[in-house]
Amino acid sequence: MTVRMLEAARLNAFVAALLEAYRLIAPVRRDGELRFDRVAEPGEVVWGYRNTPRAPKVALFPQTERMMRFAQGRGRLNAVEDVPLDETPTVVLGMRPCDVQGVALFDRVFGQGELRDPYYCARRGNTLLVAMACDLPRPTCFCHAVGGGPYDARGADVWLRVVDGGYLVAVQSARGAALEAYMQDLPVADEAQLAAADAVERAARERLRAMVPVAGIEALLEGLFDSPLWAEIAEKCLACGTCTYQCPGCHCFNIEDRVLAGGGERVRAWDSCMYPGFTLHASGYNPRPDQAARWRQRTMHKFAYLPRNVGLYGCVGCGRCIQSCPVQLDIRQVLQRVQREAESGGHA
Ligand code: SF4
Ligand code: SF4
Repeated sequence: MTVRMLEAARLNAFVAALLEAYRLIAPVRRDGELRFDRVAEPGEVVWGYRNTPRAPKVALFPQTERMMRFAQGRGRLNAVEDVPLDETPTVVLGMRPCDVQGVALFDRVFGQGELRDPYYCARRGNTLLVAMACDLPRPTCFCHAVGGGPYDARGADVWLRVVDGGYLVAVQSARGAALEAYMQDLPVADEAQLAAADAVERAARERLRAMVPVAGIEALLEGLFDSPLWAEIAEKCLACGTCTYQCPGCHCFNIEDRVLAGGGERVRAWDSCMYPGFTLHASGYNPRPDQAARWRQRTMHKFAYLPRNVGLYGCVGCGRCIQSCPVQLDIRQVLQRVQREAESGGHA
């Protein structure tokens, strides 16, 4: 693996070259907010950012997506038109390692087994991840406790690491070799630059707060389904759903048919297990009748059901839900509470 130096002065030229061949999605400022969005001009890309408030999952899993259209005449459905799959060659630039692990989870959920999601798979199959090591973890980050880390390059196609004066860049996967041509004119990094990148990595790791790893928590959760713990945690939850919308691991959606003049469309849109209506039956019965049951579901899904079903946690430790919750509910404290509760046999 050849590591090259991408100097700050060449960043715009690098982006411009990518823009000629790819739809480029990167951190940009839109309406005063830093978020992953389509880039039109090289100068729009925000480098050196701390993690975005919203996860970049929109690049592969849009918040709303049309699945098909239908026409109606004389009171009956008479034509169904599939929507073309999105196969636009795309580069997502600057994704942090936690969010790349979110994509790894989506790959398992949407991209494997009998029920592969064609909408997701079409985008994913045409998307390269130019990921960026995280030199600026926030106080709320806990990727290291869920099996990741700020310099965890797994899943990246191309890998960027910050150094004085720019970024070290290296192809990281077989698919990433498609971007080799965009780097071949860059100088090979020297020993001093490699050592400088290692020093930044050490400093980044030291910024992370100590936290008990969650490994094995799935076994602890098994005994806590009926625990009063969930009511205690959920007491101040507003059921706003913010935590799930910002999350790179949350992937639940609803599907609805919309009636339009002369026909209609089938649309899917993100949904949230924190909403009372998420499991509400047409009969009026709700199997998750209160916020305690919903908080239990959110925790169990991420830390018990997903590891059992797809081998990965549904949380990558990005800390977004902690930053965005209007009542300061902190999932790290929930995990620690679960660990204590299980250790004490339910008497924590
Ligand atoms: S549950 Fe919270 S910390 Fe974990 S991945 Fe989702 S938003 Fe990030
Ligand atoms: S963001 Fe906070 S208040 Fe809103 S649903 Fe999530 S835990 Fe509840």
